Amino acid sequence: MKIKDILRKNERGFALEFFPPKSAEGKNAFMKVVNRLRAYDPLYVSVTYGAGGTTRDRTLNTLTWIKEETDLPVMSHLTGIGATKTSLRALLEEYEARGIDNILALRGDEPKSVPDFDPTKGEFRYSRDLVDFINKTGSFSIAVAVYPEGHPQSPNIEKDMEYTKEKIDAGADFAITQMFFDNRYYYDFQDRAAKQGITIPILPGIMPIVDCKKVTEFASFCNTTVPRDILDRMEPVMDMPEEIRKLGVEFAVRQCEDLVRHGVNYLHFYTMNRSDSVSEIVNAVGIKSQE
Ligand code: FAD
Repeated sequence: MKIKDILRKNERGFALEFFPPKSAEGKNAFMKVVNRLRAYDPLYVSVTYGAGGTTRDRTLNTLTWIKEETDLPVMSHLTGIGATKTSLRALLEEYEARGIDNILALRGDEPKSVPDFDPTKGEFRYSRDLVDFINKTGSFSIAVAVYPEGHPQSPNIEKDMEYTKEKIDAGADFAITQMFFDNRYYYDFQDRAAKQGITIPILPGIMPIVDCKKVTEFASFCNTTVPRDILDRMEPVMDMPEEIRKLGVEFAVRQCEDLVRHGVNYLHFYTMNRSDSVSEIVNAVGIKSQE
């Protein structure tokens, strides 16, 4: 089912993002997580795609497992960097054949795991080009990534919004944000997007913190601010994983409750392939799919 129709039908709800397990042996553990979270009735689930196609088959297999074992609507992430039109046309045909009809169209970043990776061999410069390419097939509902604090490579937030509008106008039905921890960035982004004439749903990407060090490293890579009050609470318990996880749930609940109070109807959770934190957050916030 196309997510643009799901969002039209459901007044509110939440979505879940997973990454593909490293090997086929991970399937059982992965599907247990999916099935546990499925009980909360997510709007859709998405599976990430290693930039440059490094998880092409694993992403496809993971989406296929979910489709075979559940009735959940699925979305594939897909990156254009380094890819040719011929290779992505073949992949899109494969998606269509398997009933995968939603795609998060991304540029991606150069994969560090491929030392001789040459992005100039690709035929998609920006995600806008990939959105346009997918849109022309007429077969998919398309999402794009957006950045409340600006993409790290954007010269400034004005240009960032201009390019955001361009990629949405190329044919995106909805957008999902980079993680953020201070909702003011999201509300400001919403205002700036509305002024730019952007009207599609913008789902906030919520990251429940489970590993303080990893999240702060990733946050600095992707230009996300981790507020001082969050760091102050986490630093004293840095070496106590369960304490950090509980704090991560507390922060995410506070963040989601504030978003809901401000009229945000959809949330997109970065699950990190775990069910514990997200189920606790969804229970506490009480956000369930509602037609
Ligand atoms: P673009 O929209 O192409 O933007 C990239 C940069 O180019 C920006 O700085 C933008 O301002 C600039 N730009 C855009 N258009 C123009 C133009 N016309 N002229 C000049 N500059 C321009 N990565 C993965 O590899 N796999 C995943 O599964 C994945 N999932 C993600 C999910 C979400 C929700 C988010 C937020 C990110 C995800 N990413 C993923 C990361 C993403 O690939 C990176 O953030 C990447 O650096 C940018 O991708 P994009 O699609 O936003 O690029």
